[in-house]
Amino acid sequence: ITIGDKFDEIVSQYPDNDALIVHHQKVKWSYRELQQQVNDCAKALIASGIKKGDRVGIWSSNRSEWTVLQFATAKAGAILVNINPSYRIHELEYALNQSGCKMLVLADKFKSSNYEKMILELAPEISHAKIGQLHATILPELTTVISMSDNPPKGMLPWSSFMGRAKECLDEILEKRQGELSFDDPINIQYTSGTTGFPKGATLSHHNILNNAYFVARTMQFTDKDRVIIPVPLYHCFGMVLGNLGCLTHGACMIYPCEGFDPLAVLQAVEKEKATALYGVPTMFIAELEHPEFDKFDLSSLHTGIMAGSPCPIEVLKKVHSLMHMKDVQIAYGMTEISPVCTQTRMGTPLEKQISTVGQIHPHLEVKIIDPETGLTVPLGTTGELCARGYSVMLRYWNNEEQTKSTIDSARWIHTEDLATMDEDGYVNIVGRIKDMIIRGGENIYPKEIEEYLFTHPKVSEVKVIGVPDIKYGEAVMAWVKLKEGETSSAEELTEYCKGNIAHFKVPKYFKFTESFPMTVTGKIRKIEMRQISIRELE
Ligand code: ATP
Ligand code: MG
Repeated sequence: ITIGDKFDEIVSQYPDNDALIVHHQKVKWSYRELQQQVNDCAKALIASGIKKGDRVGIWSSNRSEWTVLQFATAKAGAILVNINPSYRIHELEYALNQSGCKMLVLADKFKSSNYEKMILELAPEISHAKIGQLHATILPELTTVISMSDNPPKGMLPWSSFMGRAKECLDEILEKRQGELSFDDPINIQYTSGTTGFPKGATLSHHNILNNAYFVARTMQFTDKDRVIIPVPLYHCFGMVLGNLGCLTHGACMIYPCEGFDPLAVLQAVEKEKATALYGVPTMFIAELEHPEFDKFDLSSLHTGIMAGSPCPIEVLKKVHSLMHMKDVQIAYGMTEISPVCTQTRMGTPLEKQISTVGQIHPHLEVKIIDPETGLTVPLGTTGELCARGYSVMLRYWNNEEQTKSTIDSARWIHTEDLATMDEDGYVNIVGRIKDMIIRGGENIYPKEIEEYLFTHPKVSEVKVIGVPDIKYGEAVMAWVKLKEGETSSAEELTEYCKGNIAHFKVPKYFKFTESFPMTVTGKIRKIEMRQISIRELE
């Protein structure tokens, strides 16, 4: 089944259910109302000359137009290209060129202070002249630029005028187009987070993402009564697949509390909407828990949600259970290339497994853990590289055969570059990324272990550990530490705290106190950048 067909099926089952609530736009649509928007948008795409397989880019934070376009491109058979809203102009050019977009839809204003800064930088270039220039020279394939603003710069079509083109396309034409699509057609190019380098365009089919979303939502036991807060970016699979599509597969309600991430808006939305589920990466949960007004909100409607994307400190998980009432919160592990979820905890997963693992393998997927040197499967309990195979493995990287070949082997196993172990009950533990592993004097050191330990220090709010070059040992351990509001500490104090409690070779040689970490827009910390900064500073 294609995403468009599933969409229509769900609308016919739950026409009056709330489908989409967007606080910053004052949007509240039932499934029937959302369908009206989606059909108009799909017809407008066809009327604009978009053919099956054409690429349509979206460069925006979380807004209703995003979601409308997501389902509309799926109906019209176009390939949606998710473009990270924090990209700068040259990265935008890269993504548009790399994917060969024919159409681009962009938000004209962003709310959070982060974006404001970016827009200030971007606006002079992106307005009139630059877009005109992009058209003429760099991006000959890009024929239409649509702005979500009612009053866009010259050369861009306002969203409302674009939607007005629906009139030029008959219902029958849309139906015919939908009928021509196959479940294994590519439907989406999603760029990876860019945590370890330049983002890669994972090419995903209806089959890949719709089923993955379904199994994730089913594992959480979603029903059409669920109301789900989605503060994670739609541009990333966490928002668009687990969020939007996960809700769709069960007739649940998608709620966007904010454009950029804002912990207060999230807490307000949970209370106001009596939300049952909340999504986030661990850093988001930390920001919500630490918000000065946290105690003011009634979060008792919550019971489940997903925490994924990076390792979660145990203390945080315990607080999410107790203070946020999310006793069924599920820990998931995955990657864009696996559509994305590969393992997940279940309802009823024992607490100690929730705390110490990323759950069990998802239905219809296979996982093996190999020695990356030899390619042989390692014994249970031994650390190795996690490889996965099954329905949700991406089709390929867009226009990058070489990288596809080095990631998916001839037997269709995808090599994740993540180090993991598995126990006899099939619970998987992510030990770290191959690229983040520190090798100090021949000892393999996994940053996570040290991070977990330092996080137990009462003054520490967040901590990330990296390896930096060292003349004597090849690599040395360095910890970046963010202290809690108003606290002070020193390298000596933290070194003392480690001594005798973690192996001597794991005790960081360097501590750097910081207010913030370099991040991807998905909220992940870019260790590659931490390393670059640290190397410069240590010189
Ligand atoms: P890039 O591939 O561009 O460097 P990325 O790998 O961060 O970026 P994503 O596809 O968004 O891009 O993230 C997938 C990665 O996130 C996984 O390979 C894994 O390293 C990490 N990850 C995901 N979930 C978890 C989790 N629950 N615990 C630990 N790590 C996780
Ligand atoms: Mg990756």
